Amino acid sequence: MSNPDIIVIGAGLSGLCTALTLAQQNKHVFLIEQLDRFGGLCGQHDVNGHSYTIACNDFGNGMINSLKRLGVKTQFEKKKSRVFYEGETIDTPIDFMFLLKLMKSPQQFAALLKGIWQFRRTSPPLVTISDFTNAYLKPGRIKDIVEIPAYLMGTSPADFNLKYLAYETEYKYGYNNPGVPVGGPNQLVSDLVAACWDHGVTLLKNTKVTEVKEKGAHIEVTMNTAQKVSTISAAKVIDTRPHSKAYPPDTKQGMMLCQLRLLTKNHTFDSRYHTYLHYPKDGGNAMDRLDKGQWCAQFPFHFFPNPTSDNKYTAINVFFYQPRGITHLDEAKQQQLLDYILACIDKMLPKLSDSIVEHHFFDAQSFFDEFHQWPQVMPFIWHGNKPSNQTGSQHIFRGGHTAYPPGDHAGAAVLSAEIVSNLVMKETP
Ligand SMILES: Cc1cc2nc3c(=O)[nH]c(=O)nc-3n(C[C@H](O)[C@H](O)[C@H](O)COP(=O)(O)OP(=O)(O)OC[C@H]3O[C@@H](n4cnc5c(N)ncnc54)[C@H](O)[C@@H]3O)c2cc1C
Repeated sequence: MSNPDIIVIGAGLSGLCTALTLAQQNKHVFLIEQLDRFGGLCGQHDVNGHSYTIACNDFGNGMINSLKRLGVKTQFEKKKSRVFYEGETIDTPIDFMFLLKLMKSPQQFAALLKGIWQFRRTSPPLVTISDFTNAYLKPGRIKDIVEIPAYLMGTSPADFNLKYLAYETEYKYGYNNPGVPVGGPNQLVSDLVAACWDHGVTLLKNTKVTEVKEKGAHIEVTMNTAQKVSTISAAKVIDTRPHSKAYPPDTKQGMMLCQLRLLTKNHTFDSRYHTYLHYPKDGGNAMDRLDKGQWCAQFPFHFFPNPTSDNKYTAINVFFYQPRGITHLDEAKQQQLLDYILACIDKMLPKLSDSIVEHHFFDAQSFFDEFHQWPQVMPFIWHGNKPSNQTGSQHIFRGGHTAYPPGDHAGAAVLSAEIVSNLVMKETP
């Protein structure tokens, strides 16, 4: 096996896009993945012949456009999400109907407008979404609705830094109108892998990188497979493994998502929608309690059906946050959660629970055992920045969603691939 020009460690979305970008510029690239599949947090997990999403499932326009530029042939379709809040529904992307619905609470709507106006005009020192809601809104409907983005980012409203919203615009992530890959996350991964093959990338799976060492003008990478330990060298290495250790030491870890997986038989979903979100009264407080490690009787969750080639069965992922510090659910807790979730689903999509033929929980511990990383939302960095794409070595670079640029989603992972590839190309003769 001849040594490559560049080694990319980790074949999640970021590693795949990095390898593809560099190979398209005539670099000989090795892409090394520890698991027996490519895609990292993107992909599907088959259980009893049914396919559940692993983690990411809808994607912003910024990322979709980057993939198009790379020539990845995956098609994306625009789908709505529907929020269920106290007997009413709100569809996103939001439109004029949303404003009309907010106007049903005229005093609080006026307070919201005043808050937004003052915030934009004088930029008072409001840092988080709960600073904003506490300053301008009374507990109730509008406050709850305004705090929903904190759930979407997996934080308590007290930890939702308003900069999250600024990043959306600054980096053009486009999550206000997301798309879902036709055929599901597996289709996206297999199209990326095929594009990598077509451009001559050498893809290695079941190969764990254990050491990255600088040796003069080269980098030596040691990797283990079940059969042997070997070393290869290259002029540049891009490491897309999690860089959480390079985060400022006071960074609070992200919360963990648990999955309840449901299998339905003969249920037809409305094809206009991708995600259904249950958001209870005072959902922000529920997120706050989960963040503090406490269960609460009512909590937000969302679910979505997976694309299926089987007309009869549909696999559904239900996502919700586990209290901080809890990674495993015992049977009694599972039953309690199941009862709550199914009771809510009954009100959201009345015929759905009758069609459920199978369920199982896939808690954070099971996720870790299967995929070797926690199902964790990346934390907001309060003091400092995400680790830079440069490491201080001319030969080793950081990529992936835990490196620059800011943002805590696949959009940031794919943008990091673009940025780090440009950096490497600039420094490679
Ligand atoms: C539950 C959940 C739901 C999410 N939903 C969404 C969503 O809907 N939309 C969205 O945009 N984002 C979502 N995200 C975030 C999104 O999944 C990630 O930001 C993105 O997939 C990260 O891609 P990546 O390539 O940076 O990292 P990863 O996907 O983590 O890839 C890193 C790869 O490196 C490999 N690796 C690690 N160590 C080694 C080693 N020593 N040797 C070799 N390989 C190694 C790993 O196995 C992995 O394949 C979600 C995240 C979670 C946890």
